[in-house]
Amino acid sequence: MTELPVEYLYILSIVLFILSLRWMSEVKTSRLGNWSATAGMAIAILSTLAAFQIQRTDLLVGATLVGTVLGTPIALKVPMTAVPQRTAMSHAFGSLAVALVGAAEYYQDLPDIDLFTVSVLSAEMILGFLTFTGSCVAFAKLQGLIPGRPFVYRGRNLVSLSTLGAAVALGVYLALNPTQEFVLPIMAGLALLFGLLLVLAIGGADMPTVIAILNSYAGISAAALGFVLDNKVLIVAGALDGSSGFILAVIMSSAMNRSFANVLFGGVGSRITAGSTSTAQAARSVQAYTPEDVATVLEDARSVIVVPGYGMAVAQAQHVVKELADVLQRRGIDVKYAIHPVAGRMPGHMNVVLADAQVPYEELWEMDRINPLFPETDVAIVVGANDVTNPAARTKADSPLYGMPILDVDKAKTVVFIKRSTRPGFSGVDNELFYLPNTMMVFGDAKEMLTELVASLKRRGGSRQKG
Ligand code: NDP
Repeated sequence: MTELPVEYLYILSIVLFILSLRWMSEVKTSRLGNWSATAGMAIAILSTLAAFQIQRTDLLVGATLVGTVLGTPIALKVPMTAVPQRTAMSHAFGSLAVALVGAAEYYQDLPDIDLFTVSVLSAEMILGFLTFTGSCVAFAKLQGLIPGRPFVYRGRNLVSLSTLGAAVALGVYLALNPTQEFVLPIMAGLALLFGLLLVLAIGGADMPTVIAILNSYAGISAAALGFVLDNKVLIVAGALDGSSGFILAVIMSSAMNRSFANVLFGGVGSRITAGSTSTAQAARSVQAYTPEDVATVLEDARSVIVVPGYGMAVAQAQHVVKELADVLQRRGIDVKYAIHPVAGRMPGHMNVVLADAQVPYEELWEMDRINPLFPETDVAIVVGANDVTNPAARTKADSPLYGMPILDVDKAKTVVFIKRSTRPGFSGVDNELFYLPNTMMVFGDAKEMLTELVASLKRRGGSRQKG
């Protein structure tokens, strides 16, 4: 290996990776961040290829071609709503590659392999293999190939932790007895099984957080492999991946008012309190309105805040939401969008979906900035959102939502909910807001209801100056 130029190129690609994380943290610079990461990865790959004597160019070219042919249409065609499961597949293949390279390294170095190398390889193979099956299950749940509900049974934590414990024990045994080759496949099998058990027990709606955690595992295992291969760019890239995945998972858990352990072991999704919800619903009634009624209210409004949620993404209603905002703005009405950190089912879900509809970035307001504006807002239009508006998060200490920061839509003069029923959202908790006198429930698919609302406003025509 020609040391010097490669080391400089590695430093360049590391700097590009770090800058890309910085740039991707803001929407305005996110494209630059994407390009920076791509350039960093290209430099890392090409400089590694140039520095080593490649023995099987045919295999390398063949694998690159297969990857490109399969990956390009996936990247171009996958809809925004399917990005979480696409990400799960990237992690699955990335971690499998790391684990397999680790296994190849072990067999290649036998019998003169030292304690440090086998210890690190064992740890990274366990992480890599469990991330592979865990990510495959996350993909299958998000894609609806298997039921999203948690697969729970008595003693599941004991079974899962025993499986992991056995894999770790075998890893230690292998480190102490490196020539006992038979141990590796058993250890790998147990790690693969643990990944399956771990993620099967987690509810489908928690998968985005799980994917962030698995991302973190894949990064840590890549960094560990970097130590074995003595490859600095792999160490740094893996550490960046591992730490950013971990930080993201922590942010998501706290924005959902959940602990890490609760996400990983809580069997959440089975906690839905259907009984209490239906009892609460039976005791009260809501007032249903039509899009025509909402148009009448909007005619007198001066300020509107749109609150998008998971249902907007499911209904693919973002384009008609933008059309509504255009119509309202032409009438001189001030329109803003309120973005909750965990609205939807992945971080930044609403930002991405609204960007798809060309909603200007300046109109998207983060929760902390928009909340003080609700009391002076005439109409809050909640499109397919639920939990992120639920006042139980402020008032009901026994609610699973208690303590979760929410958008203060209840403080607006009028609240319009566009959803298909009074059914709860992801948390399974009934929403008090549906029953308040200043709430207008518009039942139906978000796209259809908004299309009717826009048509009604257009029929009324006219424009009004702000005053
Ligand atoms: P919610 O899941 O609380 O509510 C979404 C609502 O959309 C449902 O109540 C549903 O009501 C409605 N809906 C579904 N389809 C349609 C449709 N076609 N037209 C109109 N409405 C529709 O979503 P929120 O965005 O408010 O909250 C996100 C939840 O997801 C939070 O609990 C959060 O913790 C959780 N979560 C978020 C993650 C993230 O990273 N963003 C990750 C994991 C979980 P109905 O059936 O009556 O139509």
